[in-house]
Amino acid sequence: MTKPRVVIVGAGFAGYHAAKTLSRIARHRAEIVLLNSTDYFLYLPLLPEVAAGVIEPTRVSVPLTGTLDGVRVVVGEADRVDLRNRWVGYATPEGDHGRLAYDRLVLAVGSVNKLLPIPGVTEYAHGFRGMPEALYLHDHVVRQIELAEVSDDPAEQRARTTFVVVGAGYTGTEVAAHGQLFTDRLVAQRPHLNIRPRWMLLDVAPRVLPELDQRMSRTADRVLRRRGVDVRMGTSVAEATRDGVRLTDGEFVPTCALVWCVGVRPDPFVAELGLRTEKGRLVVDEYLTVPGYPEVYACGDAAAVPDLARPGQICTMTAQHAQRQGKLAAQNIAASYGHGRRRPYKHHDLGWVVDLGGWDAAANPLKVSLSGPPAKAVTRGYHLLAMPGNRARVGADWLLDATLPRPAMQLGLVPADAVPLESTSPEVPARR
Ligand SMILES: Cc1cc2nc3c(=O)[nH]c(=O)nc-3n(C[C@H](O)[C@H](O)[C@H](O)COP(=O)(O)OP(=O)(O)OC[C@H]3O[C@@H](n4cnc5c(N)ncnc54)[C@H](O)[C@@H]3O)c2cc1C
Repeated sequence: MTKPRVVIVGAGFAGYHAAKTLSRIARHRAEIVLLNSTDYFLYLPLLPEVAAGVIEPTRVSVPLTGTLDGVRVVVGEADRVDLRNRWVGYATPEGDHGRLAYDRLVLAVGSVNKLLPIPGVTEYAHGFRGMPEALYLHDHVVRQIELAEVSDDPAEQRARTTFVVVGAGYTGTEVAAHGQLFTDRLVAQRPHLNIRPRWMLLDVAPRVLPELDQRMSRTADRVLRRRGVDVRMGTSVAEATRDGVRLTDGEFVPTCALVWCVGVRPDPFVAELGLRTEKGRLVVDEYLTVPGYPEVYACGDAAAVPDLARPGQICTMTAQHAQRQGKLAAQNIAASYGHGRRRPYKHHDLGWVVDLGGWDAAANPLKVSLSGPPAKAVTRGYHLLAMPGNRARVGADWLLDATLPRPAMQLGLVPADAVPLESTSPEVPARR
């Protein structure tokens, strides 16, 4: 008898952990197929450190093959789901098309950059949602410093060494914090460049890390300002142009670098399924199944999972939720095959970690507020535990960065047009 097939679409925090859990508990009862745009799981929380050159890009990319026993990996982009006949259509990286029939389906396609209707932003800003964007930002920053060094025009030098980050959530805050340290190092290697790079962090919210604990906000704010980051809360970009950005308070800031970290929205793929959505996320019940389709599960950023710890609300888009929901989807699928009992999703926040570069971090494990080296130790320890692979390599990079000068040059792997802000699949650069 052939085994029933479980198809998981997306190998991020939710999909990867769904596949891993299923392979552990139900490998002998079902065939597990994991369809993902890339052949690796991307550990997104360490991406700001990749952009700043602290960690090598391959360290945060954990290969799917070899780390998921008993799981068949298919690299491709899902482009259609036939819910009635139970198959998923996909395109391979070489443009061929295939279909995967399923008995159970897990939709875990994650999210993409959020866009706001602000003039010039889609043309001049770059997002920060995947590896190509981190590699692009790294090169772009190095390039601006190199161009500033050879310029005789102080106005051009000032513009090239000004970096504007919009969005003071954990992504924007970490990008600005690591960015300031990175460019200070780059300038220190160039005795002819007599200018201090300026990083600006903007948000319409009244404080940095608006979604996190007030004490973490205060720590991050204090560290950023001490380093010279120009933190402007209650301020955003009204218009972006080739030469700079006009802020909502009317000031014009000449810059060649606008980094868009205003948040994420669900992958547009979920809107095209014809299923009910809430805030663009697939509506599911507390067991993570789609109403009317008990064989279809959704989890992570792409799903509007009821937050039983905060009745009436849906879970926020975090790695913590996505990973736990992925595991639960796997357990509930196993339960549907007679292994164990299905359970509703309920998770209480275990705290947050925000790495601010150097010896600084903000953390509140189990609601205990930490800053400085203790927070740094907790933050790094958390990331090492949470990563599904490459731990020793990440640890080695941290050690090397603390003891040796950081080499910085443009690798030229990702051109600007390969990372448009409107990209729906940020992890796959355009193929030519
Ligand atoms: C820079 C950055 C830093 C972050 N830091 C933190 C943090 O410190 N703590 C925290 O809790 N959260 C953090 N987050 C948020 C967290 O990473 C997300 O909430 C989490 O990744 C969501 O997991 P997911 O599995 O739903 O989606 P993802 O991890 O985004 O995975 C989705 C997967 O689906 C694939 N995919 C998409 N579309 C298709 C398709 N059509 N076909 C096939 N595959 C597809 C993608 O390639 C990807 O592998 C951060 C996010 C970013 C961008």
